[in-house]
Amino acid sequence: THAGAAAAPEDETRRAEAVAEGFRALYGRDPEGVWAAPGRVNLIGEYTDFNDGFVMPLALPHTAVAAVARRDDGVLRVHSADLPSPVTELRVDELTPGCDTSWAAYPAGVVYALGTAGHPVGGADLHLASTVPTGAGLSSSAALEVVTALALNDLYDLGLTRAELARLAQRAENEFVGVPCGVMDQMAAACCTDGHALHLDTRDLSLRQVPFAPSDDGLALLVVDTRVQHALGDGAYAERRAGCEEGARRLGVSHLRDVPHAELPAALERLAAEAGDHVVRYVRHIVTDNHRVGEVIALLDAGDVRAVGPVLTEGHHSLRDDLRVSCAELDLVVEAALAAGALGARMTGGGFGGSAVVLTEADAAERTGDAVRAAFAAAGHPEPRIFPALPSAGARRIG
Ligand code: ADP
Ligand code: MG
Repeated sequence: THAGAAAAPEDETRRAEAVAEGFRALYGRDPEGVWAAPGRVNLIGEYTDFNDGFVMPLALPHTAVAAVARRDDGVLRVHSADLPSPVTELRVDELTPGCDTSWAAYPAGVVYALGTAGHPVGGADLHLASTVPTGAGLSSSAALEVVTALALNDLYDLGLTRAELARLAQRAENEFVGVPCGVMDQMAAACCTDGHALHLDTRDLSLRQVPFAPSDDGLALLVVDTRVQHALGDGAYAERRAGCEEGARRLGVSHLRDVPHAELPAALERLAAEAGDHVVRYVRHIVTDNHRVGEVIALLDAGDVRAVGPVLTEGHHSLRDDLRVSCAELDLVVEAALAAGALGARMTGGGFGGSAVVLTEADAAERTGDAVRAAFAAAGHPEPRIFPALPSAGARRIG
């Protein structure tokens, strides 16, 4: 048992009804169903997913909720209650990457990816509303893709598995939206379960649900959304990716996942002799962070949740010093939280802003949050948004 994991069922029913009502007002008919898919935070294993490595996300109670009905005339209409824009109308048979550059590319990209994978969708009306903060590193985009994919899978009886839906959602983002993300976010939205973290092997998408309920141990996992997003993120991601690929090539492996942790010193020595310093650092981050996922799993399996804290902090230092994807605000969260007595903290997601996670004693959570807010005020940063990361359910039908 874990205290108050996801949103209360009655809240979810109310939201499903509100989004269905929005659908009726917009399209003048009833939706055929309502679905939800969550945002996520990643506990440990950052930038490892495009290196065929391990990650450990958990779903948040925040969700994208979509009311959907089929159409038989090849038309796709999408609308978001969260934006001022009107209904976007597209023809399914004319969907091509780049044909729409608005938010509608996320749901349209899913329809496109389904079609190119041999699962044609005749058309649909979709209306959605989301409580996942956007651009905060909590993966509002994957929530949007996965809720669309699951709804169409159910309505068109496509029979795809959760992992297949996640892969198609990733393809939508890679090919249609044009963001070269790994598969973690979509797998988290599709496959997480209430009260668990998802131990995912991104090589073959094999997974294990690891019971994770900090409150049962008198602990809290906080999300601190810095509310900043620095512009260099996109180019930096591609540059890190290229550096990791160079490291793998020079070490003669297909992906850095294949460099055993025990052989890291020898691998780094070899790289130092023939590659740039950045390649050495990137390889060290990926191999050690992959190893940290295993360490966290072992600690959770042993019931030693408090000992996870220092591993998170080590992960942050590796992201800050070796991969260099942190920023002043994220470093300040970690620093202020640790100074206030937190067990551990790290940035989560792509970095350069976005969010951090903090593991703390439950009875110190408020004090820790206050300390982070005070440090932000003193540094002249905008006030961060802080809330508990309650491990919640993955995508599901809710109405
Ligand atoms: P993140 O996934 O970390 O939140 P991204 O930049 O990957 O950040 O995705 C954010 C984008 O997803 C938004 O700019 C918007 O295009 C789309 N999006 C997310 N939530 C919504 C929503 N509720 N309504 C419309 N578009 C949304
Ligand atoms: Mg995203």
